[in-house]
Amino acid sequence: MHEFGIAQNIIDIVLDKLKEENVSKKVERVSFRYGQLNQIIPETLRFNFDMLKEENSLLKSARLEIEVEPIHVECSGCGKSFVLTEPNFLCEICKTPLSVISGDEMRVDSIDVED
Ligand SMILES: [Zn+2]
Repeated sequence: MHEFGIAQNIIDIVLDKLKEENVSKKVERVSFRYGQLNQIIPETLRFNFDMLKEENSLLKSARLEIEVEPIHVECSGCGKSFVLTEPNFLCEICKTPLSVISGDEMRVDSIDVED
């Protein structure tokens, strides 16, 4: 399952970051951002995260916040750029195939630890 691997990745990133910064405080919040092209189901991702975090005492009370970014596309024919709202990869003006500018990235945006 796609979301399980991503949840595992998020946890690895958070743990690496804590290690790197020499922090041994409990994590309260992890904010994760992804582009809509990734087709992640947020509920499934959160469910997997909540399951995996139980294995680590520093992460047990962490809450996963998920933010979705829209897909930005650009037409190589007429140069128009817009936000893709439907799974339609042809320019609505000149019918040229669109290229994706952003929408396929994912990253851990911030990690909040207890005071
Ligand atoms: Zn166009």
